[in-house]
Amino acid sequence: MSYEPVIGLEVHVQLGTKSKLFCNCPTEFGSEPNKNTCPVCLGWPGSLPVLNEKALQLAMKVGLALGSHVSERLKFDRKNYFYPDLPKAYQISQYDMPVNSGGRIVIEYESSNSVILRPEAEESKNEILRSAQDDKSGGKKLISRTIGITRAHLEEDAGKLLHEGIKDGSLVDYNRAGIPLLEIVSEPDLRSPEEAYEYLVALKAILQYLEVSECNMERGELRCDANVSVRKTGTEKFGTRAEIKNLNSFKAVQKAIHYEIKRQTDLIEAGEKVVQETRLWNDDKGQTFSMRSKEEAHDYRYFPEPDLVPFTISRETVEKVRKTLPELPSERAERFIKNFGLSEYDAAALVVNKALGNYFEDVIGKKSATTNRSTVAIEFRDYVVSPKLASNWIQSELLALLNLNKLTIESSPVKAEALAGLVQLIENNTISGKIAKDVLPLMFESGKSAGTIVEEQGWVQVTDTKLIEEVAERIIAANPKSAEDFRAGKEQALGFLVGQMMKETKGKANPKLANEILRKKLI
Ligand code: ADP
Ligand code: MG
Ligand code: ZN
Repeated sequence: MSYEPVIGLEVHVQLGTKSKLFCNCPTEFGSEPNKNTCPVCLGWPGSLPVLNEKALQLAMKVGLALGSHVSERLKFDRKNYFYPDLPKAYQISQYDMPVNSGGRIVIEYESSNSVILRPEAEESKNEILRSAQDDKSGGKKLISRTIGITRAHLEEDAGKLLHEGIKDGSLVDYNRAGIPLLEIVSEPDLRSPEEAYEYLVALKAILQYLEVSECNMERGELRCDANVSVRKTGTEKFGTRAEIKNLNSFKAVQKAIHYEIKRQTDLIEAGEKVVQETRLWNDDKGQTFSMRSKEEAHDYRYFPEPDLVPFTISRETVEKVRKTLPELPSERAERFIKNFGLSEYDAAALVVNKALGNYFEDVIGKKSATTNRSTVAIEFRDYVVSPKLASNWIQSELLALLNLNKLTIESSPVKAEALAGLVQLIENNTISGKIAKDVLPLMFESGKSAGTIVEEQGWVQVTDTKLIEEVAERIIAANPKSAEDFRAGKEQALGFLVGQMMKETKGKANPKLANEILRKKLI
């Protein structure tokens, strides 16, 4: 019997305001415990909440980017429960009238591989990379799926309990209490741990493009709960779900869902029932553990927050917020495909990280650039840089070096302009792609320009026809059998001879010239 997982995610994102959701306390991270508190966020009797307008604007911005409907009326509700990290014994949230309802996120991923990663570049001869330029599909197929958004509502965060290293009892820090959160709830549309991972990557990219949050997971600015159930393949009805909490990274989400699918499938196969419950993920053990069952679940006794009067959000306000929407990742990818001739695959991989997309645009010369559709070349100050070639070098060689050195694109020792210099040297045949692979690590270590390194190392590609002719003659004389084979119609023999020429010139012969000259000399 085969089973199909059904997954829905609840993501809490901290909205990047200076002050809290209902008071003037700063949201700044790393303050002394309980420093950022006041009677409102500590829930003192008689204190009154006032809504932070900026938080509402950011919430609407996210909703509009996700294609949600922004509610006509704004209403808040009290979610009642007792826990020491919740000073008021209720959380101000939104129950039946969320600020944003509906919407969607499109996820794209490779069928075989979950994460978009470009494999090692082809033996990087310019010819190969150039011909790839013309291949619009890039040779890789992307699966595209639309995941529904149920709602995205505003609520305040709770405080934080500290248990570690404390003998008697626990300590509590209320600095987080009242920090604005947007809870983004997906429809149960995800069908694999990999899709859940891609959904989070896509959502984070959108949030970062919108500049509504830093999305720093270590600081708790992005948190995720995963709802997982399984059903027999081919059936309609959803199975009983478990909600998994305590997921501290996207990888943890993926791993926990994997574990949960297996756990639930095994239960059903053993003739037992999955119970609806909340479970905790333990990353060290790689397992989920029951936290509380449905019977123990809270009855939150939601009711309208009496201290915040409902009010109308005018359509003009909504349109004003809509005008502040920046170019979103999907729109940027479309532009990369249309203007720069990148494949869907390459465009998706570049835009998913905003800084990476910026780096790419800097390499090829950004806004001052004028595109030439026939060659897809961009004028860049003194450079002419092919977007496809630039994209390949960023995605294969540069990212590999950065990963190896645990650096990000922002902290890359090779700046965009320097990489443009390297790509330019390949473009104008000063060096071969093969040599360039040796140049980049040296640029990385020394901070020197590509030109300087090539000069210092004497790596300039030999394009001197005379010289190449001499080498070709020598190679033909030394390999009479291969020459004979080629003349007898064996094309591969030419490849071998070109290889010998490259060896003889330590990779410096221009491969295209070597090819042409050999061919001429052989017939
Ligand atoms: P709650 O308020 O108890 O968390 P919701 O109805 O808001 O419940 O659902 C929370 C999440 O659970 C949503 O993301 C939804 O898509 C998902 N979900 C609902 N039913 C299922 C199910 N049977 N299997 C997996 N996920 C589900
Ligand atoms: Mg829930
Ligand atoms: Zn306060």
